[in-house]
Amino acid sequence: METTTADHPEIRESVRRLCQGFPGEYWRKLDRAQAYPSDFVAALTEAGYLAALIPEDYGGAGLPLSAAAAILEEVQHAGCNGGACHAQMYIMGALLRHGSAAQKQKYLPPIAAGKLRLQAFGVTEPGSGTDTSSIKTVAWREGDHYIVSGQKIWTSRAEHSDLMLLLARTTPKNEAKKRTDGLSVFIVDMVAAKKSGLSIRPIRTMMNHATTELFFDSVPVPAENLVGEEGRGFRYILSGMNAERILIAAECVGDAKWFLDKSTAYARERVVFDRPIGQNQGIQFPIAKAYAQMRAAELMTHQAASLFEANKDCAAEANMAKMLAAEASWAGGEACIQTHGGFGFAEEYDIERKFRETRLYQVAPISTNLILSYLAEHVLGLPRSY
Ligand SMILES: Cc1cc2nc3c(=O)[nH]c(=O)nc-3n(C[C@H](O)[C@H](O)[C@H](O)COP(=O)(O)OP(=O)(O)OC[C@H]3O[C@@H](n4cnc5c(N)ncnc54)[C@H](O)[C@@H]3O)c2cc1C
Repeated sequence: METTTADHPEIRESVRRLCQGFPGEYWRKLDRAQAYPSDFVAALTEAGYLAALIPEDYGGAGLPLSAAAAILEEVQHAGCNGGACHAQMYIMGALLRHGSAAQKQKYLPPIAAGKLRLQAFGVTEPGSGTDTSSIKTVAWREGDHYIVSGQKIWTSRAEHSDLMLLLARTTPKNEAKKRTDGLSVFIVDMVAAKKSGLSIRPIRTMMNHATTELFFDSVPVPAENLVGEEGRGFRYILSGMNAERILIAAECVGDAKWFLDKSTAYARERVVFDRPIGQNQGIQFPIAKAYAQMRAAELMTHQAASLFEANKDCAAEANMAKMLAAEASWAGGEACIQTHGGFGFAEEYDIERKFRETRLYQVAPISTNLILSYLAEHVLGLPRSY
C-alpha cells in the first residue's frame, strides 16, 4: 500500500527491523496473560528510541517530534504496541521545559541511558475525571518534604516505572485565584514511595495496558522534587499536551495502516463465489474510506508536528490530528474485521487484539468530546459548554 512515509526513512526502516523480532505470537501470549512487554520495551530503550526527544547534552538523540512520531507510527504499523512505553517520550518534556538544572542533570542522562524509566503520569482521579482542576490528591509542605495523600486512577505503567510525574493540589481550589492555579507537579521516586505509603492496584482492562490505581497514604516526597514553581503545575501539564496528542495521532495512523494492509491483502486473496472478495464494492468501499480517513489524519499529524517544531501554536492541529487519527484507526479496524468475516475474530490473526487496543484512543488521553469542545470554543469562538 502506498503511504507517505518519506520523513525519517532511515529511522522508519530500523524501527521496522526491530519490530520484526516481536511478531504477533509475542503479543498474543502477553495479551492472554495481561503481561508487560518487557523485552520489547528493553529493545526500544537499547536502540535509543525512547530517548529520541531528549537533547544530546543529556545523552539523548535530540531528534525533532516528527522523528518520535515516525518511531511510534512504525511500531503500530508493524502490529506492535507502543502503549507500553510511549509516555516516556512526552512525559520527560515537562521535566525538560520546567525542571531545574539540577533535576535535568540528575534524571535525564539516566533516562536517556535506559537506567531509569519515567513511564508513569499520575493525573486522572476517579472523582474528577476530565475536570483536572477538581483533583483531590493533595501535597502539603512539611519541612523539606511534601506529604502526598489521595488517589489516582488509570495510572498506566506505574508498576514498570522508576519515576512518576504526579499532579497534586498544593493550594485548596477555593483559595486559588483561578481554578487551574494551586496545582503542582512532582517527580515521585516509585521505589521510595512504595516503601512509605504508596500502594498500587492493577486494573484489568479489555486490552493489555498495564494500567493501575494508586493510593497515596501520607507519602513523603522531597521538596527538591517539585517541578518548576509551586501552584503552576496545570500549565506545565498543558504545555506537554500538544506533543502527547501528536504522538498518539501518529500511533493511530500506524494502527490504521496495519488494518489497511491486512484488509487489502486478505480481500485480494480470499475467494468466495469464485472471485476475490475484494472485487465486491461492498468490501472495497469501507477499506477505501478508511484509507482516505487515514491519509487525512496523517496529513494533519504532519502539519501539527511541523508547527510544533517551528515553535508555532499547534493546539488546534494537534487536537484535530488526534481525533481524526483515532477515528481513522477505528474505521480501519471495522473494515478489517468485516473483510475477514469470521476469521477477524480469531486470536491468531491479531485483528481482534489490535481492534481492542486502538479503541482506547477515542477516550484517552483525551476523549473526542473534549476535543470537539476545544475546537468549538477556541477555534470557532462558540461559548464554553462546561
Ligand atoms: C487504559 C487507560 C489508560 C490511561 N492512562 C492514563 C495515565 O497513564 N495517566 C492518567 O493520568 N490518565 C490516564 N487515563 C485516563 C484518561 O485520560 C481518561 O480516562 C480520559 O481523560 C477520560 O476521563 P474519564 O475516564 O474520567 O471520563 P469522564 O471525564 O468521566 O468522561 C466520561 C465521558 O463523558 C464525556 N464528557 C465529560 N465531560 C464532558 C463535557 N463537558 N462535554 C461533553 N462530554 C463530556 C467524556 O468525553 C467521556 O466520553 C487512562 C485511561 C485508560 C482507560
